Amino acid sequence: MNCVLKTTLVAFALLVVISTTIFAKTKTNKTVMTNINLIEYAILHCSATPEGREYTGFQLADYHLKPVELGGRGFSRPGYNKVIRLDGTIDSLLTDNGDEYVDDEEVSWGVWGTTNKKAVNVCYVGGLAKDCKTPKDTRTREQLKAMESLIWYYIHISPSIKIGGHHQFGVYNNGVLDKVKNNKACPSFWVPDWLRTIGVPEQNIFTADPFNYQKIFGKK
Ligand SMILES: [Zn+2]
Repeated sequence: MNCVLKTTLVAFALLVVISTTIFAKTKTNKTVMTNINLIEYAILHCSATPEGREYTGFQLADYHLKPVELGGRGFSRPGYNKVIRLDGTIDSLLTDNGDEYVDDEEVSWGVWGTTNKKAVNVCYVGGLAKDCKTPKDTRTREQLKAMESLIWYYIHISPSIKIGGHHQFGVYNNGVLDKVKNNKACPSFWVPDWLRTIGVPEQNIFTADPFNYQKIFGKK
């Protein structure tokens, strides 16, 4: 490659980086941005509540934010960006400015660790059988439709996004999998199989399975 062309390309790349940063700052009207990560993951959850029992997104957020001594989780932020109710209504618990970045005010606390800073967390109400303890894919037809529409929405705004279920995100300490944190059934189904049934491209499917949930929920 000749030298002039190379310099031009580097200058162009720099310009893109700078203008992207400014664009992100302008869009959110902030002078200091501490988190402008691309949305790399959409993580699917269930509320771990029994089949057929309705909760609103705001009830779930209230549970997350309430102090532990009052029966809540004591989080400083809601665990989900979106909650899909039984009738398919989508409650947004945090702002969503529609761009491809996770801004500070869009960070939710759905999984352990720093992944949240580059993720959106989506929860459907349900995920347990009526006995209140057996994991079960309880998504209603309306919830399935709403979840699918959110999937396409996120792929549209962040085309390289990967979509997976909560149990696919392990926590690693110095490269060693933490066997306890995040080892839970949430969202009670094997997400990659479902994404394929709705035609999501393979490049957008997160396939990690640190706790072997595909064996439990995957196609038999
Ligand atoms: Zn979860």
